[in-house]
Amino acid sequence: MVSTTTSPTAAPDSRRLKSSRYLKNLIEGYGMGCLEADRIKQPTAWITAGAPVEVLYTMGVFPLHPENSACVSGAGKVSLKFIEQAEAEGFSRDLCSYFKTNIGSTSLLTELGIIKKPADIQKGAISKPTFMVPGGSICDTHIKWLQTQARRMNVPIFPIDVPHVVAGEEDRMDDYADYVEAQLWDLVTFIEKHTGNTFDKVKFNEVIALSDELAMWWQKIYELRKHVPSPVGFMDTLAAIFPLVILPGIKPGITYFKKLYKEAEQRVADNYGAVEHEKYRLIFEGIPFWYAIRFVHMVETMGAVITYEPYTLAFGPRKPPNASMHDLAKLIIQSPYNLNLEARIAFFKDVIRDYKIDGVLLHNNQSCRPSATGMYDLRNALMEQTGTPCLILDCDMNDPRAYSDEQMKMRMESFLEILDANKKGR
Ligand code: SF4
Repeated sequence: MVSTTTSPTAAPDSRRLKSSRYLKNLIEGYGMGCLEADRIKQPTAWITAGAPVEVLYTMGVFPLHPENSACVSGAGKVSLKFIEQAEAEGFSRDLCSYFKTNIGSTSLLTELGIIKKPADIQKGAISKPTFMVPGGSICDTHIKWLQTQARRMNVPIFPIDVPHVVAGEEDRMDDYADYVEAQLWDLVTFIEKHTGNTFDKVKFNEVIALSDELAMWWQKIYELRKHVPSPVGFMDTLAAIFPLVILPGIKPGITYFKKLYKEAEQRVADNYGAVEHEKYRLIFEGIPFWYAIRFVHMVETMGAVITYEPYTLAFGPRKPPNASMHDLAKLIIQSPYNLNLEARIAFFKDVIRDYKIDGVLLHNNQSCRPSATGMYDLRNALMEQTGTPCLILDCDMNDPRAYSDEQMKMRMESFLEILDANKKGR
């Protein structure tokens, strides 16, 4: 039995990167920016992950992110109240729990999209936007979600249709990129019509360069995570989804990632790990359980470091120098969450080798089809082809009804025993 006492570790929080504290300032600054945008009547837009936030920054539109607000509700442990509200309004239990969190929070924390109390932003309140721009990359729920809310709030919407490239279709990429690029130019026209702001190519180049710089620092941090012991664990990376989806194209996220990088680099030089006595190195695939971040603490207390998460890396692609709208369209299509199973298996095999991974945790997310589809096939392929033990965790990202501390503890203890046996047998 793997014991939490036979391999003592320091309280996980004591080994968090000090620069992670800066994220709080970043989030608070963004929250104030939301209120200020409302006050000065700056145009705002609801967007989804994988939508072209750089086009919004280029055209002076403040991005609001309902998925991120749903995470905030989850981490603040109020998501269940909103999910139940949405279910009471007729939305099925099977639907995306981010979507239902947003429906419920809109009903309970706002009046026709006007936030009742500024403090409610900390619970996931989000104000009515000037318009909405859902992207069909990754997930069709993005489109249906924002269509539902646009209808309820009576605001204009510009959905972007993104083809998914399956095996054998790579030679069609340029045609697909032409198709998405044409929509991005139509989006520019749509924004001009609803805001009066115009598109400026010089500004676009600046925004893309900053977006690329953000991605560059994030990828450099991931490079450091190959080191044994890993200098950066999941506690320090899980909330980085915020800068990666909302801040590409402006400077504050870059400042934050630079601080993280510098500290992590020093840790590598000092051979100082995110987990004391690192015994196991893990991948966590999928969206975290926002209402139970204590799960990551528990895993770290057992001597295991989660040193790779495809989830956050997926949202930080590098941009080519002087990227065009066509390049941006390609990047939208090429989101790692659009990869087919064959490509995902190859991707995971590389990560297992490069990051010296002992085991893989796969979150079989009950209400997120894109991140759950193919989990069992992925597990079987990785176990057969690499011999790396994989554990499927059947939970939900924002609905705590699908989570049990005791069960998770027992499952992790058994899994780490398997990792021990596997290491001995190597
Ligand atoms: S189903 Fe998954 S990918 Fe789609 S909106 Fe919900 S959380 Fe996002």
